[in-house]
Amino acid sequence: MKTSESDAKFKFCPLLKTSDDKMKMCQGSMCMMWRWVPDEKGGDTEEGYCGLAGTPCASLS
Ligand code: SF4
Repeated sequence: MKTSESDAKFKFCPLLKTSDDKMKMCQGSMCMMWRWVPDEKGGDTEEGYCGLAGTPCASLS
């Protein structure tokens, strides 16, 4: 799912949990799994996604 980094920080990460086993929020670009959506020139847009589940659609690969 493509999203802005600021919105991603309000979505749960499937890997991160607190010491009392509660889910934590996505860390965005602070996480090595975060991927930016490239623009048509190969630069980065303002959107990204969690790379754990692969690319959100084939045109982003
Ligand atoms: S980008 Fe990192 S912190 Fe965010 S959901 Fe994926 S694994 Fe979790």
